Amino acid sequence: MKYQDHLDSAALEQYASALNTRAKQARASGRLSASDLRDRILESGGLCEWCGRGLVNDAFELDHIISLKQRGANTAENLAVACPDCNRQKGQKHPARFAAEISLATPRKTALVKRILRHYAMESLEQASLFTEPASQRESAGKDSRDSTGEPHYRW
Ligand SMILES: [Zn+2]
Repeated sequence: MKYQDHLDSAALEQYASALNTRAKQARASGRLSASDLRDRILESGGLCEWCGRGLVNDAFELDHIISLKQRGANTAENLAVACPDCNRQKGQKHPARFAAEISLATPRKTALVKRILRHYAMESLEQASLFTEPASQRESAGKDSRDSTGEPHYRW
């Protein structure tokens, strides 16, 4: 979608419906309406909520902060307005890991990045290594619980 003063209702409907379909396939809870999307988009102030880049008259995407595969909900609270680069770089990464990466790459942290780092009590990529350490070291670390997929298992 393109970020413009006038957000096209049909495009919003279509985007919401695509997100709802993906959520249904992932058996995620929550359902989004076009007005949920419009509210989130306007709240972003036209800036990528991850890196802070200006999006006005540019393409942007809506990203599930906790991915649907990691049991994130398909709700407005779990949506971030993202530039295509951030959305691609984040992929299926845990939001805390991506927030730590972003905070190293960009001098000014966005409200979303600050909120996530605060939530997970992380200030630097040192802590992010908790999410990336090799499997062999996981057993001994024992600092967090992981589910059967091997992904970190945190509550949002
Ligand atoms: Zn970005």
